[in-house]
Amino acid sequence: MTKMQAAIFNDVKKLDVEKIEKPTIRPNEVLVQLKACALCTWEQRVYTGVNEVQFPFIGGHEESGIIVETGHEVDSELWKTGDRVVVGLMTSCGNCENCRIGHEGSCTNFSYENRVGGLNVRGMGGLAEYLAVPVSKLFPVADSLSYEEAALTEPLSCVVHSMDTADVQLGDNVVVIGSGIMGAFHALLARQEGARVIIDEPDEKRRSFMKSLGFEETIDPLTQDPVQRVKELTNGKGADVIFNTVAISKIAEQAVQMAAIRGKVMLYSSYHPDTPISISPNTLHRNMTKLMGSANSDSTDFFKAMKLLNNGTVDAKPFIAGTTSLENIDEGMQRALNPESYRVIVQMNR
Ligand SMILES: [Zn+2]
Ligand SMILES: [Zn+2]
Repeated sequence: MTKMQAAIFNDVKKLDVEKIEKPTIRPNEVLVQLKACALCTWEQRVYTGVNEVQFPFIGGHEESGIIVETGHEVDSELWKTGDRVVVGLMTSCGNCENCRIGHEGSCTNFSYENRVGGLNVRGMGGLAEYLAVPVSKLFPVADSLSYEEAALTEPLSCVVHSMDTADVQLGDNVVVIGSGIMGAFHALLARQEGARVIIDEPDEKRRSFMKSLGFEETIDPLTQDPVQRVKELTNGKGADVIFNTVAISKIAEQAVQMAAIRGKVMLYSSYHPDTPISISPNTLHRNMTKLMGSANSDSTDFFKAMKLLNNGTVDAKPFIAGTTSLENIDEGMQRALNPESYRVIVQMNR
């Protein structure tokens, strides 16, 4: 049996590089030699024990690579050896009603702990050297894009999903709360859609980074009342759309208070801990506020995110905090855990 290297979560704060069985492909699959996989907040939370999984577990869901083998049922006009690809939606089943109507991100059989990619360990499988991938889960990467940039297609696709759900209009006043990578992607896309974007972020370094990207209007919630400030900046009206990308419940409450009449509030982040918030139902009623959530992404979002990166409409380079190798993944995880870093990318097969 041929073996390959993979990074396995064996316990909280125990991430080991091990040899596991290299996957073999089925007739409608390709073998992807992975080149890059980003360490998402989700994997960081597995590492720290905030996200509970059954060990052993193989993480990694923001990955890119190259096709090195194709099954005999794969249309060679569409996919061939040497094609550079992003792998996405590995844990959606493709068969349930939500998947069939194009909402793979809401797959009813979804679990991070499904066994996918031909692996004999549960989990999404991106932190390994190879994956067996059904062709429906492949997205094409332009030659101009590095594997590291391509690995950010998945987080961008989740933001595309959020943006499309919130349906930003030309000229909207948009507030983005938090400017980690997800907040920054929301800001970039909202600007692309013709909105005025206000950044609400307590960290001085992040605020000045956002300013360097051209987002001049920022709020420091540690020295200013963010709700008050948003009202001031919008002639007392409030924001048309608010995206909260921060994991703190109290901030979600503020997001609702920032909304203009007919405003939309998107709860994008997950909340840790999931503390209930208080919202005045009458305010929602009178203001006709739309309160929404967004999680994951569908195939359509992946295609859009892939095009945004392939065409250079979104530049992912500023969000790559650094790289590491599979062998040194623990060190890379320590760097990723630093709240100041954007994405640390694990490189394989280099
Ligand atoms: Zn992710
Ligand atoms: Zn499904």
